[in-house]
Amino acid sequence: MSLTNAEEVTAAFQSSAQPYDREFVPRLSEDILRVIRERKFPKRAEARINFLADSLAGRPNVEPRTSRDICTKERAKERAKSPYKILRKEFYVECSCGYRGPASNDACRDCGAQISYLPEMLLGMGLR
Ligand SMILES: [Zn+2]
Repeated sequence: MSLTNAEEVTAAFQSSAQPYDREFVPRLSEDILRVIRERKFPKRAEARINFLADSLAGRPNVEPRTSRDICTKERAKERAKSPYKILRKEFYVECSCGYRGPASNDACRDCGAQISYLPEMLLGMGLR
């Protein structure tokens, strides 16, 4: 099936992509048509879906080509991150009991006072 105008794009989404069609058409119909006409538009279904998604992610503010570049760069950044996670973190603490030094199990080594995570939670940083 080859789509020749924005109305056909809208109709195709409405007949095949319900209930998600309204998220994309008619708002992006012109952009979708432009992207699927690009010479670089892939042949395989999954590649087409990804190409379309990357191209349209920045619309209407970012051109499809730039949008794809941004997606590629961000994926590269994600891949470059360490696959490992910190499983345990400890702090250097100064406790009102007078102890100064490394914490143990998130608490003062001398008196056992717990480190409060409330400030981190309030700032939306989440827990470990
Ligand atoms: Zn203490």
